[in-house]
Amino acid sequence: MWGDKRYHTLNYELRKEFGQKVMKLSLDGGFTCPNRDGTLGNRGCIFCGEEGSGEFSGSRTLSIEGQIEEQRKLLSKKWKTDKYIAYFQNFTNTYSTYEDLKEKYYAALSHKGVVGLAIATRPDCLSEEVLELLSELNEKTYLWIELGLQTIHERTAKFIRRAYPLKVYDEAIEELQKRNIRVVTHLIFGLPGESKEEILDSVRYVANTKTWGVKFHLLYIQKGTDLYEYYLKNPFPVFSRDEYISLVADGLELLPGDMVVHRVTGDGKKDLLFEPRWSLDKLRVLSGIDKELKRRNSYQGLKY
Ligand code: SF4
Repeated sequence: MWGDKRYHTLNYELRKEFGQKVMKLSLDGGFTCPNRDGTLGNRGCIFCGEEGSGEFSGSRTLSIEGQIEEQRKLLSKKWKTDKYIAYFQNFTNTYSTYEDLKEKYYAALSHKGVVGLAIATRPDCLSEEVLELLSELNEKTYLWIELGLQTIHERTAKFIRRAYPLKVYDEAIEELQKRNIRVVTHLIFGLPGESKEEILDSVRYVANTKTWGVKFHLLYIQKGTDLYEYYLKNPFPVFSRDEYISLVADGLELLPGDMVVHRVTGDGKKDLLFEPRWSLDKLRVLSGIDKELKRRNSYQGLKY
């Protein structure tokens, strides 16, 4: 058991590490993405909105320091803490020059109370130079890198226009783990054409890569994305709340107990989210997962 949960949450892990609540501050480093700027593609992944992958991050019109201050003030109404992880969330946060990356990462780290860095990126955007910079940061602070894998199935990867094969993810994991850098893998549940067993195959795969953490996302069909246009023309089945809860419980059972679960459901933007609307009631999903694990008398790692 991990505190009051039957799975190993990030909250539990950070409290253990820092002895108190630690908040993530979501930043927009002003980067773009090779899957959007024409290098690999122009339209990005099929589910990715105009604002990129971090719709709740700070505003790119502000400096890194300005965003940290803004986010800190915003969250201080809800949480009393003075320790933060600066989270470079939006678009591809290792996709720039070495100097630019270094300046932005260190600007975040220099802010009072920032005890760690989280950097979301693509596994094909980790050059030797970037890996060395990450390695240097890893010596100085609590660092983790987030990789958007979403699925291990090449057929689905092609459909969602991920624009890299599974092999690239494997190589990135190897390079990062060689440098003792924590890695968090993102998976999406509910991608069109994937059976529940195929989704769980992706979970098993990630469980075996022994990455430090994992994020389970529910597929959101958001207005303004290509996925939304596709769904209007080719409606595909989306999970009900109960189906999703049951699948997350199945997934948690397959993970090793020491893998940190960063997320089991997301925050869709109310005005943009088309389906599944039930996901807006996040607390109900979270308590549903707790109840389901309890009903099964189960926990993370039971079937690992
Ligand atoms: S890699 Fe991330 S930022 Fe780039 S298009 Fe895909 S979801 Fe969007």
